[in-house]
Amino acid sequence: MPKTDWIKQEIEALQNTGLYNHIRTINSPQGAWLDVDGKRVLNFCSNNYLGLANHPALVAAAKKSLDEMGVGPGAVRSIAGTMSLHVELEKRLAQFKGVEAAITFQSGFTANLATIPALVGRDDVIFSDKLNHASIIDGCRLSGAKIIAYEHNDVKSLQEQIQANLSQFRRALIVTDGVFSMDGDIAPLPDIYEVAREYDILLMVDDAHGEGVLGNGGRGIVDHFGLHGKVDVEVGTMSKAFGVMGGIVAGSAVIIDWLRQRGRPFLFSSAMTVPDAAACLAAVNMLEDSTQLVDKLWDNAKYFKAEMKTLGFNTGVTETPITPVMLGEAPLAQQFSRELFDAGVFAMALGFPTVPQGKARIRVMISAAHAKADLDQGLEAFKSVGKKLGVI
Ligand SMILES: *Cc1c(COP(=O)(O)O)cnc(C)c1O
Repeated sequence: MPKTDWIKQEIEALQNTGLYNHIRTINSPQGAWLDVDGKRVLNFCSNNYLGLANHPALVAAAKKSLDEMGVGPGAVRSIAGTMSLHVELEKRLAQFKGVEAAITFQSGFTANLATIPALVGRDDVIFSDKLNHASIIDGCRLSGAKIIAYEHNDVKSLQEQIQANLSQFRRALIVTDGVFSMDGDIAPLPDIYEVAREYDILLMVDDAHGEGVLGNGGRGIVDHFGLHGKVDVEVGTMSKAFGVMGGIVAGSAVIIDWLRQRGRPFLFSSAMTVPDAAACLAAVNMLEDSTQLVDKLWDNAKYFKAEMKTLGFNTGVTETPITPVMLGEAPLAQQFSRELFDAGVFAMALGFPTVPQGKARIRVMISAAHAKADLDQGLEAFKSVGKKLGVI
């Protein structure tokens, strides 16, 4: 029997249960409208919250940097030196976030893989929200620390787990998503902070979906709750609202310095590319100059979510522009997505293991790039497909 037969069987099982990933090809820049598989469709699923992925200011900054500095960073920063562009970006990010220091990584995923194992190890314990992002889970596993999951957004459960376990370990870390990416709900960070303070435990939040979205002008969840100086580590990404690619860790100077010494994706993997760093720098400048894009994002999101509710869709517990449309079983969600595509709307179905079994959904991502007419057109498509499939 060929060695890979088991993989074929696994793939067939995914296909039979509606869980196989069909990946569509995009032939246009990111924006409110896309050319997907040769069809012009309304974009309802990218994380390009502010429409920056193809913004002229970011494109111009990237082009200029290419002419002046070339394409690649050459090597790992600690081994072959770091480019002034990356240093400047980190300085500007720290100012924007109101923290002592910031460090960038290749992605949000590697930022988590770098940060968690640098802060805790074998003799330590991590208290982790049950619905935390896969990159947090992987960072926790890599650290070798004992992982104790508390009930989602449940501060009482967190406290109980701390009381029952803390004394058996050397050090501890509490880690939570800021905005939960599949449901769009927000972590109760002020209450979590009170617990972290009471037990003197390091507190880390992964604000990937809050960066550029929450807080004044998109300064993130710590700004949103007025918790400046109280959250030890803020992880973020520049791959979503910033429209580019790259991870951020923001916090005290001592923690950021430690990540330069012990963050493995920093020490063993090269830095962001030159045009990525330049485009991110342009994004920070734009966000500092004006709150207009962030305001537009929230106006659009509020409008869309209210209209979806009026139509009778279940959009779960979202408090952010992430709009899950709960459908239940994965095959229904996949069919819904296909019908939407035929109606000119691109919104992918999400099933297990991205979301729990039986909680398949379409996740609509609203952005500042959408005009009101776009949202109305999308709502019309949801209405007709929802009626056709008996969802509303
Ligand atoms: C998207 C996401 C990441 C990964 O960010 P990338 O920059 O795309 O690697 C990490 N954490 C959370 C919570 C996310 O939603």
